[in-house]
Amino acid sequence: MDWNRELGWHQARICPYQPFHMDPAATVLHYGQAIFEGLKAYRGDNGQIYLFRPEDNLERMNRGAVRMSMPRFSVDLVLKGLKALVYLDRDWIPAVNGASLYLRPTMIGVDPYLGLKPADTYTFYIIMSPVGSYYSGGFSPTKIYVCRDYVRAVKGGVGEVKTAGNYAASLLAYDMANKAGYTQVLWLDACERKYVEEVGTSNIFFVLDDTVVTPPLGGSILGGITRDSVINLAQNWGMTVQERPITIDEVLAASRDGRLKEAFATGTAAVISPVGELFCDETSYPINGGAAGPLAERLFAELQAIQYGRGEDPFNWRMRVG
Ligand code: PMP
Repeated sequence: MDWNRELGWHQARICPYQPFHMDPAATVLHYGQAIFEGLKAYRGDNGQIYLFRPEDNLERMNRGAVRMSMPRFSVDLVLKGLKALVYLDRDWIPAVNGASLYLRPTMIGVDPYLGLKPADTYTFYIIMSPVGSYYSGGFSPTKIYVCRDYVRAVKGGVGEVKTAGNYAASLLAYDMANKAGYTQVLWLDACERKYVEEVGTSNIFFVLDDTVVTPPLGGSILGGITRDSVINLAQNWGMTVQERPITIDEVLAASRDGRLKEAFATGTAAVISPVGELFCDETSYPINGGAAGPLAERLFAELQAIQYGRGEDPFNWRMRVG
Protein backbone atom coordinates (compact mmCIF):
# COMPACT_ATOMS: atom_id res chain seq x y z
CA MET A 1 0.00 0.00 0.00
CA ASP A 2 1.05 3.63 -0.44
CA TRP A 3 0.91 6.79 1.64
CA ASN A 4 0.79 10.46 0.75
CA ARG A 5 -0.35 13.54 2.66
CA GLU A 6 -3.57 13.85 0.72
CA LEU A 7 -4.84 10.26 0.85
CA GLY A 8 -3.02 8.75 3.83
CA TRP A 9 -2.57 4.97 3.40
CA HIS A 10 -4.38 3.82 0.26
CA GLN A 11 -4.37 1.24 -2.52
CA ALA A 12 -3.71 -1.84 -0.39
CA ARG A 13 -3.20 -4.70 -2.84
CA ILE A 14 -1.82 -8.22 -3.21
CA CYS A 15 0.37 -8.82 -6.24
CA PRO A 16 2.97 -11.36 -7.39
CA TYR A 17 6.56 -10.89 -6.19
CA GLN A 18 8.28 -8.58 -8.67
CA PRO A 19 10.84 -5.75 -8.84
CA PHE A 20 9.40 -2.29 -8.36
CA HIS A 21 10.33 1.04 -9.85
CA MET A 22 12.06 3.57 -7.61
CA ASP A 23 13.51 6.98 -8.33
CA PRO A 24 17.32 7.15 -7.84
CA ALA A 25 16.72 10.14 -5.53
CA ALA A 26 14.25 8.25 -3.29
CA THR A 27 14.63 9.24 0.38
CA VAL A 28 15.24 5.66 1.52
CA LEU A 29 18.33 5.35 -0.69
CA HIS A 30 20.03 8.47 0.71
CA TYR A 31 18.70 9.04 4.20
CA GLY A 32 17.77 5.50 5.22
CA GLN A 33 14.06 5.97 5.91
CA ALA A 34 13.38 2.25 6.13
CA ILE A 35 11.76 0.25 8.91
CA PHE A 36 10.88 -3.41 8.83
CA GLU A 37 9.78 -6.40 10.87
CA GLY A 38 10.50 -10.11 10.91
CA LEU A 39 7.95 -12.70 12.00
CA LYS A 40 6.95 -16.19 11.00
CA ALA A 41 3.91 -18.28 10.08
CA TYR A 42 4.02 -21.91 11.25
CA ARG A 43 2.15 -24.99 10.06
CA GLY A 44 0.98 -26.98 13.06
CA ASP A 45 0.90 -30.79 13.11
CA ASN A 46 -2.91 -30.56 12.60
CA GLY A 47 -2.44 -28.46 9.43
CA GLN A 48 -3.60 -25.27 11.17
CA ILE A 49 -1.53 -22.16 10.36
CA TYR A 50 -0.37 -19.92 13.22
CA LEU A 51 1.30 -16.55 13.64
CA PHE A 52 3.25 -15.77 16.82
CA ARG A 53 2.47 -12.43 18.53
CA PRO A 54 2.02 -10.55 15.22
CA GLU A 55 0.41 -7.48 16.84
CA ASP A 56 3.57 -7.00 18.90
CA ASN A 57 5.65 -6.87 15.72
CA LEU A 58 3.31 -4.34 14.12
CA GLU A 59 3.12 -2.18 17.24
CA ARG A 60 6.93 -2.17 17.43
CA MET A 61 7.01 -1.10 13.79
CA ASN A 62 4.56 1.72 14.50
CA ARG A 63 6.77 2.96 17.37
CA GLY A 64 9.68 2.86 14.91
CA ALA A 65 7.65 4.89 12.40
CA VAL A 66 7.27 7.70 14.94
CA ARG A 67 11.03 7.76 15.69
CA MET A 68 11.89 7.74 11.97
CA SER A 69 9.39 10.53 11.08
CA MET A 70 7.34 8.10 9.04
CA PRO A 71 3.54 7.68 9.02
CA ARG A 72 1.88 5.28 11.44
CA PHE A 73 -0.54 2.67 10.13
CA SER A 74 -3.53 0.77 11.46
CA VAL A 75 -2.29 -2.41 13.13
CA ASP A 76 -5.71 -4.00 12.50
CA LEU A 77 -5.58 -3.22 8.79
CA VAL A 78 -2.02 -4.52 8.29
CA LEU A 79 -2.74 -7.60 10.38
CA LYS A 80 -5.75 -8.33 8.18
CA GLY A 81 -3.53 -8.03 5.08
CA LEU A 82 -0.83 -10.19 6.65
CA LYS A 83 -3.30 -12.93 7.49
CA ALA A 84 -4.85 -12.77 4.02
CA LEU A 85 -1.40 -13.11 2.41
CA VAL A 86 -0.41 -16.02 4.63
CA TYR A 87 -3.70 -17.77 3.99
CA LEU A 88 -3.38 -17.32 0.22
CA ASP A 89 0.17 -18.69 0.30
CA ARG A 90 -0.40 -21.34 2.96
CA ASP A 91 0.78 -24.10 0.62
CA TRP A 92 4.25 -22.52 0.72
CA ILE A 93 4.57 -23.17 4.42
CA PRO A 94 6.70 -26.31 4.65
CA ALA A 95 5.20 -29.17 6.65
CA VAL A 96 8.62 -29.89 8.12
CA ASN A 97 9.43 -29.55 11.79
CA GLY A 98 11.27 -26.27 12.39
CA ALA A 99 10.39 -24.82 8.96
CA SER A 100 8.15 -21.78 8.54
CA LEU A 101 7.12 -18.92 6.28
CA TYR A 102 9.18 -15.81 7.06
CA LEU A 103 7.29 -12.51 6.77
CA ARG A 104 9.02 -9.18 6.28
CA PRO A 105 6.70 -6.14 6.52
CA THR A 106 8.70 -3.12 5.30
CA MET A 107 8.06 0.61 5.00
CA ILE A 108 10.25 2.96 2.95
CA GLY A 109 10.25 6.65 2.04
CA VAL A 110 10.11 6.86 -1.73
CA ASP A 111 9.67 10.40 -2.99
CA PRO A 112 12.51 11.84 -5.07
CA TYR A 113 14.03 14.68 -3.07
CA LEU A 114 17.72 15.26 -2.40
CA GLY A 115 17.33 17.78 0.42
CA LEU A 116 17.20 16.39 3.95
CA LYS A 117 13.64 16.08 5.20
CA PRO A 118 11.18 13.25 5.91
CA ALA A 119 9.67 11.84 2.72
CA ASP A 120 6.19 12.92 1.60
CA THR A 121 5.32 9.54 0.08
CA TYR A 122 5.83 6.02 1.45
CA THR A 123 5.38 2.43 0.33
CA PHE A 124 4.53 -0.41 2.70
CA TYR A 125 5.02 -3.96 1.45
CA ILE A 126 5.30 -7.46 2.87
CA ILE A 127 7.77 -10.00 1.50
CA MET A 128 7.24 -13.69 2.28
CA SER A 129 9.74 -16.50 1.98
CA PRO A 130 9.69 -20.14 3.11
CA VAL A 131 12.59 -20.92 5.44
CA GLY A 132 13.92 -24.28 6.55
CA SER A 133 14.73 -25.28 10.09
CA TYR A 134 17.45 -23.08 11.65
CA TYR A 135 18.78 -26.17 13.40
CA SER A 136 18.91 -28.76 10.63
CA GLY A 137 22.13 -30.04 12.23
CA GLY A 138 20.67 -30.09 15.79
CA PHE A 139 20.31 -27.48 18.54
CA SER A 140 23.94 -26.40 18.38
CA PRO A 141 25.68 -23.60 20.33
CA THR A 142 27.22 -20.57 18.61
CA LYS A 143 30.56 -18.86 19.15
CA ILE A 144 30.28 -15.13 19.78
CA TYR A 145 32.85 -12.38 19.21
CA VAL A 146 32.80 -9.47 21.70
CA CYS A 147 33.26 -6.25 19.73
CA ARG A 148 35.24 -3.46 21.40
CA ASP A 149 36.15 -1.48 18.26
CA TYR A 150 32.74 -0.53 16.89
CA VAL A 151 29.29 0.12 18.29
CA ARG A 152 25.92 -0.63 16.80
CA ALA A 153 23.76 2.07 18.35
CA VAL A 154 23.82 5.00 20.78
CA LYS A 155 21.26 5.98 23.41
CA GLY A 156 18.99 8.65 21.96
CA GLY A 157 19.67 7.29 18.47
CA VAL A 158 17.66 4.63 16.66
CA GLY A 159 19.00 1.42 18.24
CA GLU A 160 15.58 0.44 19.56
CA VAL A 161 14.07 0.75 16.07
CA LYS A 162 14.20 -2.04 13.51
CA THR A 163 15.66 0.26 10.87
CA ALA A 164 18.11 -0.43 8.06
CA GLY A 165 20.90 1.87 9.31
CA ASN A 166 21.46 -0.16 12.49
CA TYR A 167 22.26 -3.21 10.40
CA ALA A 168 24.49 -1.21 8.03
CA ALA A 169 26.47 -0.04 11.09
CA SER A 170 26.91 -3.64 12.20
CA LEU A 171 28.16 -5.22 8.97
CA LEU A 172 31.90 -4.53 9.26
CA ALA A 173 32.18 -6.04 12.75
CA TYR A 174 29.99 -8.96 11.67
CA ASP A 175 32.30 -9.60 8.73
CA MET A 176 35.41 -9.44 10.95
CA ALA A 177 33.86 -11.84 13.45
CA ASN A 178 32.88 -14.23 10.67
CA LYS A 179 36.38 -14.25 9.19
CA ALA A 180 37.77 -15.05 12.65
CA GLY A 181 35.41 -18.06 12.88
CA TYR A 182 32.63 -16.53 15.02
CA THR A 183 28.95 -16.55 14.12
CA GLN A 184 27.81 -13.30 15.72
CA VAL A 185 28.97 -10.11 17.38
CA LEU A 186 28.18 -9.21 20.99
CA TRP A 187 27.72 -5.43 21.15
CA LEU A 188 28.76 -3.26 24.07
CA ASP A 189 27.37 0.16 24.96
CA ALA A 190 28.57 3.12 22.90
CA CYS A 191 29.73 5.35 25.79
CA GLU A 192 31.97 3.14 27.89
CA ARG A 193 32.23 -0.08 25.86
CA LYS A 194 31.54 -1.79 29.14
CA TYR A 195 27.90 -2.88 29.34
CA VAL A 196 26.52 -5.77 27.30
CA GLU A 197 23.77 -4.74 24.86
CA GLU A 198 22.71 -7.44 22.39
CA VAL A 199 24.01 -10.03 19.92
CA GLY A 200 23.71 -9.72 16.13
CA THR A 201 19.99 -9.95 15.42
CA SER A 202 19.13 -11.26 18.88
CA ASN A 203 18.87 -10.28 22.52
CA ILE A 204 21.15 -11.92 25.07
CA PHE A 205 20.54 -13.75 28.37
CA PHE A 206 22.97 -15.08 30.97
CA VAL A 207 22.24 -17.59 33.73
CA LEU A 208 24.34 -16.56 36.74
CA ASP A 209 23.95 -19.27 39.39
CA ASP A 210 20.13 -19.52 39.54
CA THR A 211 19.34 -16.04 38.24
CA VAL A 212 18.48 -15.18 34.66
CA VAL A 213 19.98 -11.82 33.68
CA THR A 214 19.37 -9.76 30.54
CA PRO A 215 20.34 -6.14 29.77
CA PRO A 216 17.50 -3.63 30.22
CA LEU A 217 15.92 -1.90 27.22
CA GLY A 218 17.51 1.49 27.57
CA GLY A 219 17.02 3.01 24.12
CA SER A 220 19.85 1.40 22.17
CA ILE A 221 18.62 -2.22 22.20
CA LEU A 222 15.80 -3.67 20.11
CA GLY A 223 12.97 -4.86 22.36
CA GLY A 224 12.77 -8.40 21.06
CA ILE A 225 9.45 -10.21 21.12
CA THR A 226 11.28 -13.47 21.83
CA ARG A 227 13.10 -11.69 24.70
CA ASP A 228 9.78 -10.67 26.21
CA SER A 229 8.41 -14.21 25.75
CA VAL A 230 11.45 -15.72 27.48
CA ILE A 231 11.16 -13.32 30.45
CA ASN A 232 7.47 -14.24 30.84
CA LEU A 233 8.05 -17.99 30.55
CA ALA A 234 11.01 -18.05 32.96
CA GLN A 235 9.11 -15.98 35.54
CA ASN A 236 6.10 -18.24 35.10
CA TRP A 237 8.35 -21.21 35.88
CA GLY A 238 9.30 -19.54 39.16
CA MET A 239 12.75 -18.33 38.09
CA THR A 240 14.23 -14.98 39.09
CA VAL A 241 14.73 -12.79 36.03
CA GLN A 242 16.66 -9.55 36.31
CA GLU A 243 16.60 -6.90 33.61
CA ARG A 244 19.66 -5.00 34.73
CA PRO A 245 22.87 -3.50 33.36
CA ILE A 246 25.52 -6.19 33.15
CA THR A 247 29.14 -5.48 32.27
CA ILE A 248 31.19 -7.71 30.01
CA ASP A 249 33.71 -7.91 32.88
CA GLU A 250 31.04 -9.42 35.14
CA VAL A 251 30.16 -11.99 32.46
CA LEU A 252 33.82 -12.95 31.88
CA ALA A 253 34.56 -13.14 35.63
CA ALA A 254 31.47 -15.34 36.09
CA SER A 255 32.72 -17.58 33.27
CA ARG A 256 36.08 -17.92 35.05
CA ASP A 257 34.68 -18.65 38.51
CA GLY A 258 31.92 -21.00 37.32
CA ARG A 259 28.92 -18.76 38.20
CA LEU A 260 28.01 -18.42 34.52
CA LYS A 261 25.96 -21.56 33.96
CA GLU A 262 24.72 -20.78 30.47
CA ALA A 263 24.13 -18.02 27.94
CA PHE A 264 21.71 -17.86 25.04
CA ALA A 265 20.48 -15.39 22.45
CA THR A 266 16.80 -14.92 21.56
CA GLY A 267 15.22 -13.87 18.26
CA THR A 268 12.63 -14.76 15.66
CA ALA A 269 15.13 -16.49 13.32
CA ALA A 270 16.56 -19.11 15.69
CA VAL A 271 14.10 -18.63 18.59
CA ILE A 272 16.76 -19.64 21.16
CA SER A 273 20.42 -19.79 20.24
CA PRO A 274 22.69 -21.26 22.93
CA VAL A 275 26.10 -19.59 23.26
CA GLY A 276 28.96 -22.06 23.69
CA GLU A 277 31.86 -19.63 23.68
CA LEU A 278 32.64 -15.93 24.04
CA PHE A 279 35.80 -14.51 22.50
CA CYS A 280 36.99 -11.24 24.06
CA ASP A 281 40.34 -9.43 24.01
CA GLU A 282 42.09 -12.38 22.33
CA THR A 283 40.86 -14.81 24.99
CA SER A 284 38.31 -17.57 24.63
CA TYR A 285 35.70 -18.16 27.37
CA PRO A 286 33.83 -21.47 27.03
CA ILE A 287 30.32 -21.55 28.49
CA ASN A 288 28.76 -24.74 29.89
CA GLY A 289 31.63 -26.71 28.34
CA GLY A 290 30.57 -25.47 24.90
CA ALA A 291 27.21 -27.25 25.12
CA ALA A 292 23.60 -25.99 25.11
CA GLY A 293 22.31 -25.41 28.64
CA PRO A 294 19.14 -26.87 30.17
CA LEU A 295 17.23 -23.56 30.30
CA ALA A 296 17.98 -22.82 26.62
CA GLU A 297 16.73 -26.31 25.73
CA ARG A 298 13.57 -25.98 27.81
CA LEU A 299 12.75 -22.52 26.43
CA PHE A 300 13.32 -23.66 22.85
CA ALA A 301 11.07 -26.70 23.30
CA GLU A 302 8.34 -24.65 24.99
CA LEU A 303 8.36 -21.82 22.45
CA GLN A 304 8.35 -24.22 19.51
CA ALA A 305 5.45 -26.11 21.07
CA ILE A 306 3.47 -22.87 21.32
CA GLN A 307 4.44 -21.74 17.80
CA TYR A 308 3.53 -25.07 16.18
CA GLY A 309 0.28 -25.43 18.11
CA ARG A 310 1.51 -28.48 20.03
CA GLY A 311 1.21 -27.25 23.59
CA GLU A 312 -0.80 -24.99 25.87
CA ASP A 313 -0.63 -21.30 25.05
CA PRO A 314 -0.88 -19.73 28.53
CA PHE A 315 -0.16 -16.18 27.35
CA ASN A 316 -2.36 -16.23 24.24
CA TRP A 317 0.59 -15.62 21.91
CA ARG A 318 -0.59 -17.88 19.10
CA MET A 319 -2.91 -16.48 16.43
CA ARG A 320 -4.80 -18.78 14.09
CA VAL A 321 -4.86 -17.96 10.38
CA GLY A 322 -7.89 -19.14 8.43
N1 PMP B 1 17.92 -7.37 18.18
C1 PMP B 1 18.02 -7.11 16.86
C2 PMP B 1 18.99 -6.08 16.41
C3 PMP B 1 17.23 -7.81 15.92
O1 PMP B 1 17.34 -7.56 14.61
C4 PMP B 1 16.32 -8.79 16.39
C5 PMP B 1 15.46 -9.55 15.40
N2 PMP B 1 14.26 -8.87 15.15
C6 PMP B 1 16.23 -9.02 17.78
C7 PMP B 1 17.05 -8.31 18.65
C8 PMP B 1 15.26 -10.03 18.34
O2 PMP B 1 13.94 -9.57 18.18
P1 PMP B 1 12.72 -10.60 18.01
O3 PMP B 1 12.76 -11.49 19.16
O4 PMP B 1 11.51 -9.72 18.01
O5 PMP B 1 12.93 -11.30 16.71
